[in-house]
Order: sequence, then C-alpha cells, then structure tokens
Amino acid sequence: MSNRPADERGQLLMGNQAIALGLVEAGLRVGTAYPGTPSSEILAGINALKKELGLAIHTEWSVNEKIALEVALAASWTGLRAAVAMKQVGLNVASDPLFSAAYTGVVAGLVIISADDPGPHSSQTEQDSRLLALTAKIPVLDPSTPEEARQMAAIALELSERYRLPVLLRPTTRLCHAVQSLARPAPIQQHPLKARFEKDKKRWIATPRLRYLLHCELNDKLARLEAEFETSPLNEELAAEAPGGLGIIASGVAFETAREVLDELGRKVPLLKIGTPHPLPREKVSRFIERFDQVLVLEEPDACIELQLPRRNHVRGRLDGTVPGAGELTAEVVYEIMARLLQAPGTGSGLPELESLASQLSLPPGGPRLCPGCAHRSAFFVMRKVLHRAIFPGDIGCYTLGTNLRAVDTFLDMGASITMASGFFHANQALGDPRPIVATIGDSTFLHSGIPALINAVHTGARFVLLILDNATTAMTGFQPTAATESADGTASARAVSIEQLVRACGVEFLERADPYDQDGLARLLLRAHEHASSSQGGVAVLLAERPCVLYEPDSVTVKVKVEVTSQCDGCRYCLEAFECPALVLRPDGSRVDIDETLCIDCGQCLDACYKGFIVVKDSTA
Ligand code: SF4
Ligand code: SF4
Repeated sequence: MSNRPADERGQLLMGNQAIALGLVEAGLRVGTAYPGTPSSEILAGINALKKELGLAIHTEWSVNEKIALEVALAASWTGLRAAVAMKQVGLNVASDPLFSAAYTGVVAGLVIISADDPGPHSSQTEQDSRLLALTAKIPVLDPSTPEEARQMAAIALELSERYRLPVLLRPTTRLCHAVQSLARPAPIQQHPLKARFEKDKKRWIATPRLRYLLHCELNDKLARLEAEFETSPLNEELAAEAPGGLGIIASGVAFETAREVLDELGRKVPLLKIGTPHPLPREKVSRFIERFDQVLVLEEPDACIELQLPRRNHVRGRLDGTVPGAGELTAEVVYEIMARLLQAPGTGSGLPELESLASQLSLPPGGPRLCPGCAHRSAFFVMRKVLHRAIFPGDIGCYTLGTNLRAVDTFLDMGASITMASGFFHANQALGDPRPIVATIGDSTFLHSGIPALINAVHTGARFVLLILDNATTAMTGFQPTAATESADGTASARAVSIEQLVRACGVEFLERADPYDQDGLARLLLRAHEHASSSQGGVAVLLAERPCVLYEPDSVTVKVKVEVTSQCDGCRYCLEAFECPALVLRPDGSRVDIDETLCIDCGQCLDACYKGFIVVKDSTA
C-alpha cells in the first residue's frame, strides 16, 4: 500500500484496503477469499500489508467461498484471528458452513466480509447479505465510510471473540471503491502464538440434541448483543436543531447519502445512524420512531432494519413503496424521496446539477465488450460459425459477454453452465429436440463449482460440448490466481493443479486442448466434439481452450498480424455485430469500418469477421 499518495494526515486508501488495514491492525493471522466485485481488493490489501510490514499472516485465494469460510473457521477454532472476504452471491455458496458456524461458535475472532452490490453494478442479483445473516442469526456491522469500515473490522474481530460468534461486516460497492485519507497505522507488533486447537465434542461434533442447546445458546448471545448495541456508539443519533415531523433512520452508505442530501436541501432532520442492523437495538429505534409523525428508513439493498421494527405504522421505506423496492439509493433517488416527504421545492427533478452533468457525459455506445484481442471472442465466434443452431449455456466471468456475440444463451450462477447443459440435454431427450448444446465456463469458475457439475453430467449420461475457456487467471475481478496457476500472492507452497487431469478424473473420455487463436483448428475440434456428444455411445466432450488473458499477459500475442479494412467495405456492420472487437469502428457517416490503431493489438483474429473478405492482412510493403 505504500505506493498510494499520502500527505501528513495519512494515506489515501479505498474502502476495501481500509478493511484490510483494520483487520491487520487488529491482529489478523489468517485471511481467505474468493474474488468477486466489489470485494476483491480486501485480500489483495491484506497481502500488500503482509509484504510491506513483514507480517506472518496466512492468506489464500480459495477455490470457492465455502472453502474460504471453512479454512478461516478452522483457524478461528485453533485460536487465530481470521477473516474471509467475498461478494454477496458468494455468501450463498458459503451459507452451509455459515449457518452451522453460528451454532458452533468460534474461538478467536472471525469476521466474514460480504460486499453487497446495490444497483447491481456487477452481479446477477441485488441480494442483501444482512438478510442472510439475519436468517443465519449472526451479527452484522454496516459501515458508512472507509474509515468506519477500518474501525468496524477491528470491532467485529473483538465482538466475535467476546461473544464467540462469527460477525458479518457488510460494505457495499460505493464504500468498497470509495477513497478516503486515513490516519497511518501505528507500528504493528505480532506476538508469539500460543494458540492450540482444543477438542470439544459438545461443540465441534455436536449431535442434533446438542445442536438444539447450541441454538438456545446462540439466541442468548444475540439477546446480549442486542442489549449491548442499545447503548453502543455504533448506533447514534445526530441531533438536529429544528426537529420536525420527520425522522430518518439510515445505515451504511445510505446514511452518508442522507446527510449530504439534507445539507443540499438545507434541512435539519433528526437522523439515527444504525451501524448494527442485526441484532437491531429495537428499544432505541422504537423510542426514536415514537417521537415523529413519519420516519423514513434508508438502507440498501433491501429492507432489513425495517423488517425488524416492532411497529411500522408510520414508517416509510422499501416495504410501503416510499423507497423504490430495487436499485441503489443514489443521491438523486434520496433527494426525490426526501424532497417529497419534506415538501421541498424542486420535487420531481432530482438534483438538477447532477442531472445536467450526467446528460453532458459522452458515454461510449452499447454496454461492456470483450477486450481487443480477447481469445474468448475467437472461441465464441467459432462456436457460432460451426454450431450456430446450438443452445449455449454460459457462466459467470468476462466470458458472460459472449451474450453480445450470441454465443451465451443463459447464465445463472457459478458453475451453472454445466448443470444447465445437463438439464437441457435431459429435457431435449424427452422432447426429441435435436439441437446441439455447447456450454462455456472459465478456468476459475470451473474450479469453483464446475467440478461437481461435470461429475453429475458424466454420471447421469448427459451429452454436450463443454469449452473450458482457460485464460490462466481470474480476469474479471482483477487477475487473482487460480488453483491451476502458479501462486501469484507469494505463497511458496502453492501448487498448480491440472485442469486436464481434473476433467479426466470426472470421467470425461473426450478431452482435447485447443488454442482459440487457431480458429480453423478449433472449428475442426468443435465438430469432432459435437460428433462425440451426438453419438449415443458418446458423452460430455470437453475442449480445453487455452490462451492467456491479453490484458494480464500482453506478451502472449507473439505473432503480430497487422490488419486493415479495404476500401471496398460498404459499412454493412456485419463484422461489428458478429465479432464486436472494440478496435473495429464504424466511420461517423456510417460509410465503412476502420481499424482503430490505438486499440488494435495486431492479433489478426478478425480476418474472418468480414464474410466478404474485406478485412485483410496489411501489406507492409505498400
Ligand atoms: S468490413 Fe466487411 S463486414 Fe465489416 S462493415 Fe465492412 S463490409 Fe461489412
Ligand atoms: S487485429 Fe482485429 S481482432 Fe485483433 S485487436 Fe485488431 S481489430 Fe481487433
């Protein structure tokens, strides 16, 4: 982290780095994670601090969130302070050990960081981790700023240890990626470890009868925590000089937004900040509500505080529709709501300055696209060309953008491409639908959840083609290593596992390696794979399409092919739609396509993208 600009007050850190700092300052000894936006920089931040300060902390990018939580839990049971980081949909994957860990409890502090994505900006759902924590019965801390996230990380470890319960720290995208100047840490001293795992059969291997007792114990812990939170400074009221008929309860980033909007409106409204949405200090909140004609609850991404209120008759929020039931609480949204409730002028137009600024932004047309030279594009292009009638189940990663190339028809959750392909196969068998099925999954996603899905597909006799798009990194979330790559976080003992061996061990009989840049070769292999999957004697046919991510390893494009679009181009746009390389650009008058030399990486992959043959190798002698 020392590369960040700093001034005499401290250093500029983003929210995720602030969380890492708070954990390390509080004596973290084990940090685990599975990458996922917006949480990915937390473990990267711990790794950076570990290196910078020479600390002994075991860190790992685990294969999935369930495993990451279990590794951290075992460390806690051994007596080491531990933390695990993930995004909100990752908490679903980790929910099995999460629910059980609430019952067994912990020994040393264990913090589970689940970063929510209101909006959503980069997720398949807007789900609220606080609600899962409510169901699992674990406490939640909800920070509003990077500085508070740093402090809450340490508080969470301390609370966890004192109550012997895992504690959820729940930041959201805006906080994870916000930057704030934070005070520099005091020197961190690590003391010799005296921890030791102590066997306890009443807890660690509790039978159902004992689990009932652990459940009672858990309820008691939550009741004591709620009592503590009634007077905790984590839940504080901001005194307003001129209280009126409206009070506001807010938590997380929505609290800061509410404060800013009240300033903008020039209104003084009593504001109760909730830092502990679960267990909610219900008496404190109830007393606050009783003082006003109306109380507005602002929280993201769903109703968690509101659901726990004993009485909601004059409460306005997500449940009565005053606050939209979906989407981020941006300043514009909060302004609209408050202006309406306070009957302030300007209602209906949002923050005028922001609106006009937004309208002036010149945003690129269309949504996100694969990078220039991305090998996934080549694979999708060939899939469409060779098996265009197929059903294309896709998965979670950069390659979800295969939707733009019409080579991804579904994506659901991590690993679902393979299970959906199996499901489509069995359904199509029953219906007599002969369409081929070609599924795609990335290397990291395959290791995360694809292996059990592949075992199931082989075992149940499903037949389809599976392309494992191996770009040798977890690209979408910031190039974290996978279990199939060499360690990129300095863990000397890490070993790369072989995806090829794993596929074979799942019982797959057809497995071929392919280079997506060799489009003709890939096309031939796809046809052979399809033949295998179509035969009643066949099965799942796997193509391991290997080529490093061009952003992560730009030198991997060793053969440079300069291309040009000839003057015969008539601007039909076919190549733009079918190949969609950002370096292919339509002239403003729509007359023809050009190559944008500033974006083009000379991969030569677009040569077949013009079916009329107007994209050609540039004649260097011309
Ligand atoms: S290069 Fe070919 S496909 Fe692309 S716009 Fe021109 S004519 Fe159409
Ligand atoms: S050579 Fe073609 S495919 Fe490769 S980056 Fe340039 S325009 Fe895109």
